[in-house]
Amino acid sequence: MRAFQRIAVLGSTGSIGESTLDVIARHPDRLGVYALSAFSRMEKLAEQAAATGAAVVAVPDDAAAGRFRQAWRGAGAMPAIRVGVQALADTAAAPECDTVVAAIVGAAGLPSSLAAARAGKRILLANKEALVAAGSLFMAAVRDNGAELLPIDSEHNAIFQCLPHGGRASAPTEPAVGVRRLLITASGGPFRGRDPETLHTVTPDEACAHPNWSMGRKISVDSATMVNKGLEVIEAHWLFAMPADRIEVVIHPQSVVHSMVEYHDGSVLAQLGQPDMRTPIAYGLGFPDRLRSGVGMLDLVRWGRLDFEAPDLRRFPCLGLCFDALRAGQGACIALNAANEVAVAAFLAGGLGYTRIAPAIVEALEWQAGQPSVTLGGLEDVLGLDARTRARVAAWIDRVS
Ligand code: NAD
Ligand code: MG
Repeated sequence: MRAFQRIAVLGSTGSIGESTLDVIARHPDRLGVYALSAFSRMEKLAEQAAATGAAVVAVPDDAAAGRFRQAWRGAGAMPAIRVGVQALADTAAAPECDTVVAAIVGAAGLPSSLAAARAGKRILLANKEALVAAGSLFMAAVRDNGAELLPIDSEHNAIFQCLPHGGRASAPTEPAVGVRRLLITASGGPFRGRDPETLHTVTPDEACAHPNWSMGRKISVDSATMVNKGLEVIEAHWLFAMPADRIEVVIHPQSVVHSMVEYHDGSVLAQLGQPDMRTPIAYGLGFPDRLRSGVGMLDLVRWGRLDFEAPDLRRFPCLGLCFDALRAGQGACIALNAANEVAVAAFLAGGLGYTRIAPAIVEALEWQAGQPSVTLGGLEDVLGLDARTRARVAAWIDRVS
């Protein structure tokens, strides 16, 4: 059994963060919280810090730190409050921390995820946008510093479980021997069967009403547009060193099969379970052991049947755009991710129509393709292109809305 793990949960107030704290609380003998972080909702963060005995909390600015102090009701000592993006990265890299749960949403999670890799931590990666924007940089940091990378996005966790890994988590440079294809399942989201002609009336609450999973609002909209599945294809490309043409997306509305690996001999291995993120999180925390997660038994008889169908790229243009970006290269992936983040935030705030999300991404991809090519070797290069794309797309949204 692995020694006691001290864990930093970055993005602890979010959906993945809360599921992580639920699993940690079930195993006080082997799991403890070292640090927590949040961008807003300081009352929630203060509650979590009091309940877990966190030594450190990381918050975005001094105003948030003030709100945290006001909200603190803990019986014990108040945790040390660290402020700013660098403090978040330092917390991920701190010697007191063994394991980092990267559960911040968006490219904002990249600096801390990368810092965890550079410090050789065990990383449970939920923050897929970090890999989309900086897959090569991040995977090299994992390899060069002996970090342990465990994917907890459910599809990638399923694939990881179905691949031969000999009990070790690694960052491969070529596809696993014997593997033909990765089959990533997608629920199809809330609009799978809806007439595309009616999508222009979609509201944020309708887009966030996912049929199977309860998640943060950004990833819920991404699931409705299927950008999420496209980001997951790019994520799988980096995690498993798999070329784009050996990654397939299959619609599976029940979300029971979380993804599959097809081998050259025709064997297809699948991981099944309830749609509850505590399963992949417990897998990552316990690896290579299995921990109780609080998830109940899978009642296949109640399901009765499992369905599969091909995705319709006319209904879900964003999925095709993600494949295009992956084939075009890292600059396109950064632009696609940044454009999507800005467009989804605008949609959630009521400033952009749902059917304008895909055109915002197209605008960014066309703009990026016309730019002189720049080296994207370091974090600063990535964040620079990310920021330029955001400005470009924000201006486009101002013009069209
Ligand atoms: P969420 O919106 O519920 O939570 C996001 C967390 O990140 C919160 O704690 C928030 O305070 C923090 N945060 C937001 N913006 C920040 C910023 N600029 N700087 C620092 N912290 C910030 O999101 P979620 O659904 O928990 O998703 C988190 C990540 O996990 C995303 O990358 C998502 O794609 C991925 N993921 C989520 C699920 C799921 O079931 N929710 C499944 C697979 C992957
Ligand atoms: Mg997923």
